[in-house]
Amino acid sequence: MTAPLRRTLCVIGPGLIGSSVLRRAREKPGLAARLVAADRDEAVCARVRELGLADEVTTDAARAASEADIVMICVPVGAIPAVAAAVIPAMKPGAILTDVGSTRRSVVDGVRPFLRPDVPYVPAHPMAGTEHSGPDAGFATLFEDRWCLLTPPEDASTPDAIATIEALWHAMGARTRIMDVDHHDKICAIVSHVPHLLAFSICQTADSLATDLRSEVLDFAASGFRDFTRIAASDPTMWRDIFLHNREAVLEMLDRFRSDAETLAQAISEGDEATIVASIERGRRIRRSLIENRQA
Ligand code: NAP
Repeated sequence: MTAPLRRTLCVIGPGLIGSSVLRRAREKPGLAARLVAADRDEAVCARVRELGLADEVTTDAARAASEADIVMICVPVGAIPAVAAAVIPAMKPGAILTDVGSTRRSVVDGVRPFLRPDVPYVPAHPMAGTEHSGPDAGFATLFEDRWCLLTPPEDASTPDAIATIEALWHAMGARTRIMDVDHHDKICAIVSHVPHLLAFSICQTADSLATDLRSEVLDFAASGFRDFTRIAASDPTMWRDIFLHNREAVLEMLDRFRSDAETLAQAISEGDEATIVASIERGRRIRRSLIENRQA
């Protein structure tokens, strides 16, 4: 179903996610007739031109958006409403607004005041990423087999616009699911936001150990700690925004995590082998099901 997409796609913020979308669109003939990219930084624009990721690259987001049939905002969640406010007035009637933000409630509420009745809004969060950022970090297969969660507000989207954005993400290689905004935020808090919080905290704990112990942690980092450091290498602005913009769900899931960690700590303290083994077995089961679902 690529027919509705053979038009102009505009990506605002060609970082990891935005440049991956552009690369995929470049590789897949017929996905978009024309690609336009906008970034506030001229040096980033120059790099995007050098990489040949778009037909037109500009620092003027509103101008870029004015010629597009789909405008995809790929900037950190805290900046999405301001970018939406800048581009929506310039958009063609009937063009679709979408974004890829990792949190939904604050973004949808932040964008809502700037929406126009003739510009449907279909937010879509691709559940794919790496710890790298910027236009050099993207790659065309980033979304292959990954989920993309669409959270279209009923009063601001249309069935046609939803079908087009679903088709776009299918062409990116992703599977799609439509869900409620708050449900999205809870799911992402537990599968992504709290794990990142734990990774940042573990690195902080290791780093604040006594000097000699810290150097040993770094020298002998085995897979557990090493895997956490990969997650902890993520972009500070993006993650600051995610924590602050999904505050309630992150704190709720963190409370649940604390209680489960406390149960395990208690079991260790009491030598309760059955509880310890049950907890580890649960983890193994979850890992197996991820592998079966091709999400590992
Ligand atoms: P990225 O590589 O850092 O790219 C972010 C882009 O946004 C850059 O082009 C940056 O421009 C621009 N930008 C930053 N602050 C801005 C501002 N205040 N106003 C306008 N533009 C601004 O980040 P990313 O990983 O692609 O993430 C982009 C979005 O995708 C975020 O909303 C994030 O939550 C979401 N997301 C990320 C992942 C992931 O794992 N990385 C996964 C799914 C969704 P400059 O280069 O000029 O700073």
